[in-house]
Amino acid sequence: MTDNPMTDNPMTDNPAGARPPEPSTRRRSRRQETRLWHLPVTRVERVTPNLARITVRDESLAVLAGAGTDQNVMLYLYPEGTELPEPLTLDGARGLWSQVRPLTRTYTIRRHDPETNEVDFDFVLHGDIGPASAWASRVAVGDMMIFVGPSPAYQPDPDADWYLLAGDETALPAIANIMAAVRAPVVAFVEVAGPEEEQDLPGVTWLHRDAPAGESTVLVDAIRAAELPPGTPEVWLAGERSAMVDVRAHLLEDRGFPRKQVRPTTYWRLGESGN
Ligand SMILES: Cc1cc2nc3c(=O)[nH]c(=O)nc-3n(C[C@H](O)[C@H](O)[C@H](O)COP(=O)(O)OP(=O)(O)OC[C@H]3O[C@@H](n4cnc5c(N)ncnc54)[C@H](O)[C@@H]3O)c2cc1C
Repeated sequence: MTDNPMTDNPMTDNPAGARPPEPSTRRRSRRQETRLWHLPVTRVERVTPNLARITVRDESLAVLAGAGTDQNVMLYLYPEGTELPEPLTLDGARGLWSQVRPLTRTYTIRRHDPETNEVDFDFVLHGDIGPASAWASRVAVGDMMIFVGPSPAYQPDPDADWYLLAGDETALPAIANIMAAVRAPVVAFVEVAGPEEEQDLPGVTWLHRDAPAGESTVLVDAIRAAELPPGTPEVWLAGERSAMVDVRAHLLEDRGFPRKQVRPTTYWRLGESGN
């Protein structure tokens, strides 16, 4: 197992066996029991034209200890018409693997409300080419959502003088949660398709893509041009792989940031399915 800084993926339990677990050297909240949730969708909203907020609410979510920041789950997508045992448990799902394996995709818990037992997920709608994106663009109240987790969550370094948070819209749920969790100053850059995709998040510098997602260099260009504060930062980055490679190289090579403080996470790869 290599310590690959480009895949600092916190969803290390790999319940669907999609990819081998990745190590993480970041501070993370304690691992909770990994379980499978099979819940009806209770609300679907378009936050922006290409971002669907999907909410599930159920008493069983009372035991999901929301740890905030980038805590995530693995969405399970079964082929249409698959007959699933009721209740569907993680063991039950694993028992089915010889017949049917779900497609898995990772999504961040945007909000967990322990009072109402609600969880929100924000899905970037990037077209029907992606099964998760296609599912999120059609899902309706009452449809079932299946997910496994949760992962531990990144715990920001309380000793950092400031934080650099950057990524594309897939990273926005985590960036918003991290901004709400830290006290030290934050410099945040988020790449989106255009002004219509901006959200009401004071403190974020919005960058509008000048090329298709995954091909734009606006993120690294903006960070390159930025006058960053003095002191020791902690850096949290996530998005398309090549953007992560470029930003990391710039921060290490041009800015001389300490390697251990710059650990991007690849959230997706241009031209490749799954994560
Ligand atoms: C820890 C973690 C947390 C994540 N949290 C979120 C989240 O909260 N919200 C969210 O929307 N995503 C999130 N992602 C990213 C999401 O899992 C990927 O974008 C995933 O590939 C989408 O699956 P899909 O089935 O729609 O597309 P795939 O089948 O994986 O890909 C199909 C094609 O679409 C392209 N593609 C994939 N994602 C995008 C995109 N965002 N924009 C444009 N093209 C794309 C691929 O390059 C490929 O060519 C997270 C990823 C990780 C690892």
